[in-house]
Amino acid sequence: REVYAEETVDSVCPFCGVGCLTSVNVKDGKIVKVDGRNGPANENRLCVKGRFGFDYVASPQRLTKPLIRREDAPKRADLSLTADNYLDVFREASWDEALDRAADGLSKSFKDKGGAGIAGFGSAKGSNEEAYLFQKLIRQGFQTNNVDHCTRLCHASSVAALMEGIGSGAVTAPFTAAAEADCMIVIGARPEQNHPVAATYIKQAAKNGTKLIVMDPRGQGLMRHADYGLKFKPGTDVAMLNAILNVIISEELYDEQYIAAHADGFETLKAKIVDFTPEAMEPVCGIAAETLREVARLYATSQKSIIFWGMGVSQHVHGTDNVRCLIAMALTTGQIGRPGTGLHPLRGQNNVQGASDAGLIPMVFPDYRPVENADIRSEFEDAWGRTLDPVRGLTVVEIMDDILAGGIEAMYIQGENPAMSDPDQNHARKALTTLKHLIVQDIFLTETAWHADVILPASAHAEKLGTYTNTNRQVQIGRPCVPMPGDARADWQILIDLANRLGLNWTYDGVPAIYEEMRAYMASLANISWDRLERDGTVTYPADGPDEPGNEILFGQSFPTADGRGKIVPADLVPPSELPDADFPLVLTTGRMLEHWHTGAMTRRATVLDAIEPEPVVSMNPRDISAQGLETGQEVTVETRRGAITLTLRADRDVSKGMLFIPFCFFEAPANFLTNPQLDPFGKIPEFKFCAARIAPA
Ligand code: SF4
Repeated sequence: REVYAEETVDSVCPFCGVGCLTSVNVKDGKIVKVDGRNGPANENRLCVKGRFGFDYVASPQRLTKPLIRREDAPKRADLSLTADNYLDVFREASWDEALDRAADGLSKSFKDKGGAGIAGFGSAKGSNEEAYLFQKLIRQGFQTNNVDHCTRLCHASSVAALMEGIGSGAVTAPFTAAAEADCMIVIGARPEQNHPVAATYIKQAAKNGTKLIVMDPRGQGLMRHADYGLKFKPGTDVAMLNAILNVIISEELYDEQYIAAHADGFETLKAKIVDFTPEAMEPVCGIAAETLREVARLYATSQKSIIFWGMGVSQHVHGTDNVRCLIAMALTTGQIGRPGTGLHPLRGQNNVQGASDAGLIPMVFPDYRPVENADIRSEFEDAWGRTLDPVRGLTVVEIMDDILAGGIEAMYIQGENPAMSDPDQNHARKALTTLKHLIVQDIFLTETAWHADVILPASAHAEKLGTYTNTNRQVQIGRPCVPMPGDARADWQILIDLANRLGLNWTYDGVPAIYEEMRAYMASLANISWDRLERDGTVTYPADGPDEPGNEILFGQSFPTADGRGKIVPADLVPPSELPDADFPLVLTTGRMLEHWHTGAMTRRATVLDAIEPEPVVSMNPRDISAQGLETGQEVTVETRRGAITLTLRADRDVSKGMLFIPFCFFEAPANFLTNPQLDPFGKIPEFKFCAARIAPA
């Protein structure tokens, strides 16, 4: 191994929120192999993406020069998505010309419309420093809080409920706490596919005797290791969880002392939950009343119980309510704040935790400090030398709506791909086409970049220095392993170049200086200096002192709320926004697959991963396939009220009867042409997990 590589660089995996530490083996300026390193979240393990998904970095499709749209090239939402004809649409340009054009376009819209005419999407794949700079550029440069990123499509509802319930949007305990738990609930998450190394810890704990309860409308491999596998009806999370809360209260399984000391709202919950008996909820959620009782008893009476959840919980119009129920379970039973207990939303992208912490969301400055608080705002105004927007900004889907309503007319999108990831793609792509000025900064000519006026060639994760915060709150350093191709530049450098063209006079001399400025505004990072990160490579936040280890388990004594107490918020039954009917009789749910990450921009260009899963598929229960006269492997069209796509039919016994599952990573058949853009009213997250659909031979 050592002979093969010329150099080995310590870094961190670029894909999921698990944050596996890696040793990147380099030869002739290219990555030739990636090994797992002994990090706190992986102990030398890697999954198939981390191990084999690296050659996208050296793809011949990398952007190597700035591009400017040709004068005569119309913006169309339906451009054929091949990389072969891009020079018919764009011309190559110098960095000076491209940056001038980008700055002029944004400035012109700002002059015409003020901050209301501008919006920015930063990236959860970039570093903390890049997330910090991106939100600062939009806020300082354009006096607007219209800045967001893919957390809005991921765990925004979880964060809304957690901030309301316990005053913090991050996990209360790492997933490695599974080893100490007596009982684990995994709900609406498929860690074997989406957080594979975390799944190994969960399975290992189950093997060692921890009781495992898996709740998912689709079957999954983790159910083989589970004591209870609850395949509940899609969209009925609140009914199932309220029935569990009903048992906890009616059988007096709650922790009276804990509630008295730490939580408000119990009496309201008690009054509200009385009608949600397991017997009443059984026909709603499809889980036998006695099973609901057994699960409630197991969770509440175990010494130490922990809950993990994913986007099956959060991506609903009732996503915030789903999480409120989970918080209520933890607060009523005192299953939080001790080793082996807690609440853990498994974060998606490698740096979605860090990007959110750094303020890349429309409601808050870094460290979740509200933009609407005058004292906090004036602190940033003094530091940044500009008047800042006193009102929270628009979120991802709201920004697309506002463009089409004639509001926002210029956008800066760094490393995100809304032309694949936003719901109701006809609507989203039309919005991108409508923009007067669209600046896209990325490593590939993504589906979003096809709509751009200016394209800035950026850096892959393996080409730059930066910090990344994983789902466990571990801040870790990613290091440059290979040079950037052609004229590509590091994202943080491009942000500085653009900011200075906007007259912001940024003088950072490198990534450590950006980190230290960001840290000055973030109490959570107070004791984690750049030097400490350089020395230790990974530190959990918050840490009590410069040499104290980070706190893995939070909120043993109190919560970071105004009065230090948690808040139990009861939830009502809210049906999915669109129910099946005679025209669209099936339930469509979308998500990820093991080999491909999110919109596929990286993993579809990774040779091994794309060889394993090379074509768009829709999964359906084999009985439904034969009942509808279809055949596995045939081309089918899946249609909803918003669009239709054609793809290959795959039989999957894990998919319940009456359901379809489509991964959203395939540009050839983008699942989000079908999805419902209706939003959860609190987290503003779209309902990716449920809409009405039909299927027919293509
Ligand atoms: Fe990378 Fe996540 Fe796989 Fe670890 S589990 S190797 S972080 S994709």
